[in-house]
Parts: sequence; structure tokens; C-alpha cells
Amino acid sequence: MKKIYMDYAATTPVDEEVLKEMLPYFKEKYGNASSLHSFGREAFDAIEKAREQVAKIINSTPDEIIFTSGGTESDNLAIKGIAYKNKDKRKKEGPHIITCSIEHPAVLETCKHLEKQGFDVEFISVDKYGLVDPGDLEKAISKNTFLVTIMFANNEIGTIQPIEEIGKIAEQHDILFHTDAVQAVGKEHIDVNKLNIDLLSISSHKIYGPKGVGALFVRKGVKPEPVLHGGGHEKGLRSSTYNTPGIVGLGKACELGLKRMEKDREHMKKLRDTLIKNILTIEESYLNGHKTKRLVNNAHFRFTAIEGESLNLMLDDKGIAASTGSACSSTKLQPSHVLLGIGLKPEETHGSLRLTLGRYNTMDEIEYVSEVLPDIVKNLRNMSPLWH
Ligand code: PLP
Repeated sequence: MKKIYMDYAATTPVDEEVLKEMLPYFKEKYGNASSLHSFGREAFDAIEKAREQVAKIINSTPDEIIFTSGGTESDNLAIKGIAYKNKDKRKKEGPHIITCSIEHPAVLETCKHLEKQGFDVEFISVDKYGLVDPGDLEKAISKNTFLVTIMFANNEIGTIQPIEEIGKIAEQHDILFHTDAVQAVGKEHIDVNKLNIDLLSISSHKIYGPKGVGALFVRKGVKPEPVLHGGGHEKGLRSSTYNTPGIVGLGKACELGLKRMEKDREHMKKLRDTLIKNILTIEESYLNGHKTKRLVNNAHFRFTAIEGESLNLMLDDKGIAASTGSACSSTKLQPSHVLLGIGLKPEETHGSLRLTLGRYNTMDEIEYVSEVLPDIVKNLRNMSPLWH
């Protein structure tokens, strides 16, 4: 049976060229980048090259890139780091962070943790497409607001936020702006200067790099407190011996991502649009998220009277790997906070399906899924007491 992977928002395979670049750093070039001898220098040089490669994909400078263990750590470092820096305001009238209701748990849970420590957090809501209204952001700002953290693009429904407008508002009010760009890097053109972004999170395994490595862009002059204390790596911001193969892989993934951006975008968009057109011919099927302000690889559907888990299992039986919601929460059987956040009723959230595409999907695969899915939906509905 053919195996078809359509869960690229959960993770991506490592690109062949990325793997080739990484391999020597496991065995022959195994030095610790902090060592002064030739082994160390070899690793150090490779890490500095990766720093340049990562910087380029977001138009920052290499000295603004901090390597981390992934998107989750980058989000934690950005938000906690800036919050701890502003802790003194806590003694006055509640230092204030603004985020939105449909962020990834790496941001939401970090903000909730800070709330318990006395920080004020405002979770602004989104419209039915998942969009933040810049007017709502403006209204939420108080004199104690020191950080706005709004994701670049949503990991479940693919909605892309008005980042340029948010950046402008943050700048006008002299507030730092962090964005979780884990799903957007490599798919959207990102220029941290044009967009007034001060901190930006990247994860390698969403862009054909290895798992367990990521980066945080920290604008020059912005000084978060470290979250991990130790040997003082990464200008004291993130201690721990360098994961050289991982960092080299992330660097190469960024280089390729930038080089292939137009080609990849065009390819995924063509596949996505065909998939959406085909699937929406199914009776009582709906697209979640915004029609145009969405990631080029994201198709997120909702089917009346369907259980997302059963749908996924039946697709898996046909060799198709999809997701019911977000990669990180699909093991929890609670309604997705993102789908609730865009105003769906709990029973509506259950019949959802996320298909996320990538560099290696083909039009044949789209045709196959478009053929198989309507029958699965029909069969499940025939068994459902909820279907009229
Ligand atoms: N932020 C977003 C938007 C994500 O989609 C993910 C992963 O699914 C993360 C953060 C976490 O990244 P990592 O798996 O590298 O910790």
C-alpha cells in the first residue's frame, strides 16, 4: 500500500542535503565548540556558519541568533526572559503581557505560568478565521504592557496574523514584540526589520531539519534574562554544550528553505488549492481558517457528524497520515482551543481534519486523498446517529 504523509505541520523529514551536511559532526568532527583546540575550532566555525544561514532566512544579523533546543524553548526564553527582565514592574501595578487565545501551548502555558507569578496576561480573542484585530491589540495596551507575543501563523488552521500591523503598534507604544514563527519560517517571507519584530522563534524540524534544535532571534539591544543558567554559552543566554550536528542541520535547512522558498510555495499552494477544491465538494464540509490569509501548505476541514479520530484512523488504514488538530495536542481528547477560539461549538470541533503538505507531496497523492476521503466520510456518517 502507498504511504502518503500529509502531516508536515507536525514534523518534516530531514532533507537529504541537510543530513549529508550533519553526518560528519557526529563522528569525525565531534569537537566541543567551546574547546580551543582544532577539533573545537572546527565545530565553532560550523556553528558560526549556521548562525549566518539562520539569520539570512529572517533578514537578521548572525549575532542576533541564539541556538536553542527547539520552538518550545525559544518561546519560553523569549517570554520568560523578557518578563523576568521586567519583574520590577510587578511591584507596581502589574506588568502586562498581551497574547492571543489561539497560540501554541508553548506560548499559552508559558504565559499562564507567568500569571501565577504575578504578571498580568491578556489573552485577546480572534475572529472566526483566527485573525487578531489590531484594534483589539491597541485597546488592550496599558502603560504597564512590556511584551506582545502573537504567533506568525497558526499551527492548526494555518491563519497568518497581520504581523506588520502588530509590529507597528508595538513599536509606536515602545513595547517589545515576540512572534512564534515556527510554522511560518520557510513558507512566508520574513523580514524582522521590516516587520518590527524584536524576538522570533524558529524550530528546525518543521523546515526539513532535525528534531530537538531551534533558534531565537533577539534584536540587538534587547536583553532577556536567561532561563537556563550554566557555562554561559550564547552570550550567557542559553547555556549547554552546543548540539553541533543539530545546529549545522538547522543552518542548512534554512539555507535550502530560503533558496527553495518560491518553488516550494508555488508547489504547495497548487496542491493545497486543488485539495481544498476537491474536499469541499463533500456535503456539509467546511474550511477552517482564512481562505487567503493562510499558510500555503495548510488545509483544515470540518465535517458535520464525523469523529475526527475515526476519520484519522480510517485514513491511516488507507496509508494517509493526517491530523485531527494540532500535532502537540492530538493525544488529548479535549476540543482544540484553537477551534473553540474561532467560535466553533465543542461538537463541531470534533469533526475536524488537518492535512498539511510539504516539499515531497505530489498531485497524484492529492488525487488519491480526494478519491478516498469522500467514501470514508460517507461510511462514517452512515454509522452515525448524528447524521440526518
Ligand atoms: N510553536 C508552534 C506554532 C508549533 O507548531 C510548535 C510545534 O508543533 C512549537 C511551537 C514547538 O516547537 P518544538 O517542537 O520545536 O518545540
